[in-house]
Amino acid sequence: MANYSGPVCKLCRREQTKLFLKGDKCHTRCVLDKRPTKPGMAGVQRGKMSAYAVRLREKQKLRRFVLMTEKPFRRWVDQASKAANSGAELLALLEMRLDNVVRRMGIASSLKTARQIVSHGHIKVNGRWLNIPSYRCRVGDVVAVDPKLKENVGVKLSLETAQRLNNRPNYMEFDPAALSAKVIRLPERSEISLPVSEQLIVEYYSR
Ligand code: SF4
Repeated sequence: MANYSGPVCKLCRREQTKLFLKGDKCHTRCVLDKRPTKPGMAGVQRGKMSAYAVRLREKQKLRRFVLMTEKPFRRWVDQASKAANSGAELLALLEMRLDNVVRRMGIASSLKTARQIVSHGHIKVNGRWLNIPSYRCRVGDVVAVDPKLKENVGVKLSLETAQRLNNRPNYMEFDPAALSAKVIRLPERSEISLPVSEQLIVEYYSR
């Protein structure tokens, strides 16, 4: 996915799920709402999907949502597999990545933009600049945005959208004046925004 440069809405149509890859447009003019068919062959599903295909699609859906190629994605899966509930652990690990925390703060309306904000060095964690999108946020971490970004049009728009949708998770305390958020606890499954069945993904990798 990191190297994918084709039309991203096609990925949502392929997975039949909104992956929110286009930021604000996803909330207002989503292509999947207008064209809910799968790409190619006029969206016709040929035959019943095998158990393997169902699990493969679920894995692909998550991988596309988190914008990762197979190799780094596999590393997160391997890390999660050490936990008793590896599916829940995988989602929690991905949710707590710094780029995703920045997205959930409402600073960026897509994960791609959030990743750019982090890697361009606009984020401080616990008072220190950090430009590693894969950094795993922990309880007590304070994530703050470069004050210069307050005037950025894209950031302003994303903050307005987050305010309108009121979709910031309760595992963080957001301070709109300082544009910062404190992680106050680990996320619960219902607060994780990844639209997948983690059990199917675990089953895919334990073949
Ligand atoms: Fe997916 Fe967003 Fe395109 Fe809708 S607008 S299909 S959610 S990328």
